[in-house]
Amino acid sequence: MRLHKLKLKYKIIVSLLFANIVLVSITTSNNLTFAFKDYIPSETFPFFGAPIHEDITRAALDFLKPKILADINNEHAFVDGPLQFTSGYHVDGCHFSDSVSKINNHYSRAINDLDPSKRNHGDARDAFGQLLHIVQDFYSHSNWIELGHTDPNKDLIDGGLGLWTPLNGYQVYPKDFMVIQGEKIPPGITLYPQLHNNKIIHAVMFHKIYQGLITGTIPYEPDDCPDNIAIPHWDTFHGDKKRGEQGFGIGLNKDSPSRDNFNEAKNMAIAQTKHEWCRLVTMTAESYGQPGVDLLLKEWVKDRNKAIAACSNLFPN
Ligand SMILES: [Zn+2]
Repeated sequence: MRLHKLKLKYKIIVSLLFANIVLVSITTSNNLTFAFKDYIPSETFPFFGAPIHEDITRAALDFLKPKILADINNEHAFVDGPLQFTSGYHVDGCHFSDSVSKINNHYSRAINDLDPSKRNHGDARDAFGQLLHIVQDFYSHSNWIELGHTDPNKDLIDGGLGLWTPLNGYQVYPKDFMVIQGEKIPPGITLYPQLHNNKIIHAVMFHKIYQGLITGTIPYEPDDCPDNIAIPHWDTFHGDKKRGEQGFGIGLNKDSPSRDNFNEAKNMAIAQTKHEWCRLVTMTAESYGQPGVDLLLKEWVKDRNKAIAACSNLFPN
């Protein structure tokens, strides 16, 4: 279904549901408290550590019931644990198509489980938590931020309300970026590597220049980033250098506060996570109508006004 139709349908459902609720204006605090003291340094735990993912999720979805939020947040440790070495879950190795299909498969799982005629909806929380991990890693592990997309209000990689748009290798997308995926560069496309460690890749096709979207490469799994433009995930084979050390910042990851562009990646991850809530509500409404949305709000949400206000920019009056 096309987006505007979907929006209209959702608006109708929402207005029916919340006709009697006066939306209060929510002041979103910029002073989000991030428990950086819990942070495990990247030298010993070389990913956006689970505690940082949990902070991001908490900041975006603070209107959920604490128990639900905790259940969703548990999944970060799972994805960074048993699934640590599957790069599609962490948006590494230029496996963009795989990452997006993992997100969409998890959405199917979640929506399937949110069927109001079912008794137990526990798997939806797990599926949603796991897909949020992938969504958040997109910002810390790709060069989206370095390409200049840092405005949480307009620079989300996927601002749709249905399944994610597939990201296919060497396809051009709005905002004039090309997904770089595949060791074999198609004829007619030339890729130019970064200059001066700026993480910016250019792709030229038919005399037009596009931004090249890539991720870092990790040493233990085959990647799909062409060798002439590939950028490692870490500064060294095993992890990151410290600021001031020679070689600091060679790697692409923005996993810890010590990395350049960490705050930009974190803020975009928060915005995309919040957006995923709106997507989940929309897809639930699409599948099950009012009873589905009712169930989701009843089981998951602590602060209904805030949960609705989180999506108010998508569905203005
Ligand atoms: Zn990860």
